[in-house]
This record gives sequence, structure tokens and C-alpha cells, in this order.
Amino acid sequence: MRLEGKTAVVTGGSRGIGRACVVRLAAEGAKVAFVYRSNREAAESLVAELGGASDDVRAEQADVADYQRAHELVDQLLEQWGQIDVLVNSAGVVQDGLMGMMTTEQWRQVIETNLGGTYNYCHAVTQPMMMARRGSIVNLSSTAAEFSSRGQVNYAASKGGINGLTRALAKELAQRGVRVNAVAPGMIETDMSQVVRGVAGEVIKKAIPMRRVGRPEEVAALVAFLASEDAGYLTGQVIRIDGGLSLGGY
Ligand code: NAP
Repeated sequence: MRLEGKTAVVTGGSRGIGRACVVRLAAEGAKVAFVYRSNREAAESLVAELGGASDDVRAEQADVADYQRAHELVDQLLEQWGQIDVLVNSAGVVQDGLMGMMTTEQWRQVIETNLGGTYNYCHAVTQPMMMARRGSIVNLSSTAAEFSSRGQVNYAASKGGINGLTRALAKELAQRGVRVNAVAPGMIETDMSQVVRGVAGEVIKKAIPMRRVGRPEEVAALVAFLASEDAGYLTGQVIRIDGGLSLGGY
């Protein structure tokens, strides 16, 4: 198992892509703590599914936009585990709306959760990972950062910010043995994409060369690779996983 003896923190781990990452990292041998915001039922059912009483998978309630809480949580895990080897920033939200109709609250919620949350958890693990001279951070970006849709200025900006953060932090930490990468999914079958798939599912599938949306498990497999030493020479990359959607052309 590639992650035997490793420890991992996954934000947004109770549902969707984050949940698939928790399952995959645990299956590869890691101890995993995952963060969820409000859906306790989903979080508890995942813990139960992955072993219940064992301490190897645990759920922590926190809003990733809360800087103080991120640091407290990471400090608490460091005390218990000694080291955090892997951080996956998957917590994210959408609040779509055309610019003329967008409220400051919609802008702030998306930026503070997606980009702010990624910053908070990266910040909290940076010094411990630097001191340990090892670690892998994987941030969930989106193809929306580069191939933006109408009604998503907030979401596209948050994901573009994550791409920049990923590259800059990768440069800072490369000499300390810490790798930082991002994955940029296209359309993945989760709660987040449910409305869009409902409205334009067939049109979207026709635009995807592979003619289907992706599964959370397929993204998790890429995340697990990046988290592992199999990706030991890979840093500062934003890797698209979109069934060919971003290839353009005919
Ligand atoms: P999802 O199914 O809606 O799940 C979102 C997860 O994030 C849930 O666990 C949720 O917790 C958590 N979360 C949301 N806001 C939070 C906050 N403020 N603090 C802590 N946790 C929070 O989303 P998903 O589709 O898996 O998306 C995961 C990531 O992939 C996101 O960053 C998203 O932007 C990105 N992405 C998704 C797609 C796609 O097609 N699905 C495509 C490209 C990129 P609760 O359950 O408690 O609400």
C-alpha cells in the first residue's frame, strides 16, 4: 500500500470528490482526518463505512474559511500523529449568478471558502511539512479556471487563484521536499454539479470527447497518485481530468 504509515487531512471529505479521496487514501493505508461543514449525517456514515470505532478515519466539523480553526485542527492532529504527510483541499462551493445580479455575499462566500479555505489549510501545514522535509499538498481546482462559463466569475476567480497559489507555493517548498499540485476536474458526478447536469447534461456530454461525466473515484485515483511517492518528481502542476473536454477543436 502506497500510503502505509502516512497521515492525511482532507477538507470537504464528507461528500463528492473529497469523500472519494478519503476512501481511496484510507484504502492505500493512510490515517485520514476529514473536514466537513454541516452535513454531520454524511460525515458519520463515511466514518462508519470505513471502520467505525478505529481511529484511522475521523471526521472534524469546521468551516474551512475559519483561519483560526484550521490552525487549531492541524495543531491538534500534529500533537496526536506527529506529522501530516498529505493535505487534500477539496472543500468548495458554487454560488452562480451573472455579474449584474451577483451579490457581494455570493462573491465572498465562494472566494473565502474555495480560495481562502485552501490558503488556510496550506498555511497551517506549511511549517510542519517544511520542518519534516516531506509532504504532499493537492488542491482541487477546476477547468473553470481557464475555460470559464457565464455566471461563474466568483468560482472561476477562486479556482484561478488556487492555480496561482499552487504554483507559487510549489516553488517555495520544493527545496524542502514538499510537493504542491492541483487537479482540475471537468464535470464530475457529485451534488455540486447536479443542477447543471440536470439542465444541460446531454449537451455537456456531447461536448466531452469521452461522452460521459467523470466519477469522483477517478479524480481520487489521481489525487492518491499525487499524494504518493509515485509522483515524487512532480510539483507545481495543475492536471486536468475532464474526459478531454478542454482539448477544444472538433
Ligand atoms: P460537493 O459534492 O458539493 O461536496 C462539497 C464538500 O465540501 C462537502 O463535504 C461539504 O461539506 C464541504 N464543504 C463545503 N463548504 C465547506 C466549508 N466552508 N467548510 C468545510 N467544508 C465545506 O462538491 P464536489 O463536487 O465534491 O467538489 C469538490 C471540489 O472539487 C470542489 O473544490 C469543487 O470546486 C471541485 N470541482 C468539482 C467539480 C464537479 O463537477 N463536481 C468540477 C471541478 C472541480 P458538507 O457536506 O458538510 O456540506
